[in-house]
Amino acid sequence: MTILVTGGAGFIGSNFVLDWLAGSEETVVTLDKLTYAGNLQNLASLQGHPKHVFVQGDIGDAALISSLLAQHQPRAVLNFAAESHVDRSISGPGEFIQTNIVGTFHLLESVRAYWGGLAPEAKAAFRFLHVSTDEVYGSLSKTDPAFAETNRYEPNSPYSASKAASDHLVRAYHHTYGLPVLTTNCSNNYGPFHFPEKLIPLIIVNAQAGKPLPVYGDGQQIRDWLYVKDHCSAIRRVLEAGALGETYNVGGWNEKPNLEIVHTVCALLDELKPRADGKPYKEQITYVTDRPGHDRRYAIDAGKIEKDLGWKPAETFDTGIRKTVQWYLDNPEWVANVQSGGYRDWVSKQYGQS
Ligand code: NAD
Repeated sequence: MTILVTGGAGFIGSNFVLDWLAGSEETVVTLDKLTYAGNLQNLASLQGHPKHVFVQGDIGDAALISSLLAQHQPRAVLNFAAESHVDRSISGPGEFIQTNIVGTFHLLESVRAYWGGLAPEAKAAFRFLHVSTDEVYGSLSKTDPAFAETNRYEPNSPYSASKAASDHLVRAYHHTYGLPVLTTNCSNNYGPFHFPEKLIPLIIVNAQAGKPLPVYGDGQQIRDWLYVKDHCSAIRRVLEAGALGETYNVGGWNEKPNLEIVHTVCALLDELKPRADGKPYKEQITYVTDRPGHDRRYAIDAGKIEKDLGWKPAETFDTGIRKTVQWYLDNPEWVANVQSGGYRDWVSKQYGQS
């Protein structure tokens, strides 16, 4: 059996592919466009793996997707591919519309045609799992209850609006064509292979480089945080047992203001790799102008996936963040390559691609 994973060279996708192959005999076909966020170094440990196939390509390339589906006959397609950085969506929303909306549409069309042609048993077993975000629900006040699956979609950034549109398309393909879909809406992830433009890796990397640690506005924006491996286990569980057409919120019950996250990371670095001058890393914190339209609070009610599917995160925030900081300290080469663009050279050397 085979699964097709799109966006599998990105942060969450690569963690998913690595975890999957560590625990399953099934073949994984990874499709990734290798944008700035796609990094084949994340999958370096799979070089020569007999059950892993990597294909560079775009989810919007219908001909490529159709030929991959025909060739590999996957029992499931998991869509992680997306433009994912809110700040980039503010400065340049075009790519977000193109990949997250138009790309998902073309992917759905190819999958629908493939699924329609499957023999009855394979057709019944097939799943399309769409990986999405809690940001589609908009922003909460301090006292609002956490996002449930029944919350209205109220996306506020071009990123979340484009993800919301893709979620709606996925939903529509189930209701209109009967495509066996599942959607997950997860809170902020953190962990290994996270591109250092996002808060936690940015703080770890800048702290060590002696650079300012930028905090937007007053730093009191609240997010729910989930260790990436727990997100991956939730996706596996939903794929295995999720009810068709349903959406599942995934979160860690870890609501924290951004400033607290920065302080926690600084304290861990003080312990694990103290500054040469003995001063605390928090001295590098610098407040910067807030992001336009910055949502104040996201919080996830993960009750449905816990109750219906028996999923629970394995990590607490304390254990997950310690593992994460340690991973970045243990992998300075990965960080240096990502920052220098050196991983592109590495990719072209390893794979003859650019
Ligand atoms: P990422 O930016 O690290 O990775 C995205 C991957 O998709 C990259 O490898 C990129 O090269 C690839 N890609 C981009 N456009 C493509 C295209 N047109 N065709 C094929 N591949 C393409 O993102 P991530 O943080 O790993 O997020 C993965 C998914 O999870 C996204 O859909 C995102 O919306 C969702 N999500 C992320 C978080 C989070 O905290 N990071 C939380 C909830 C949901």
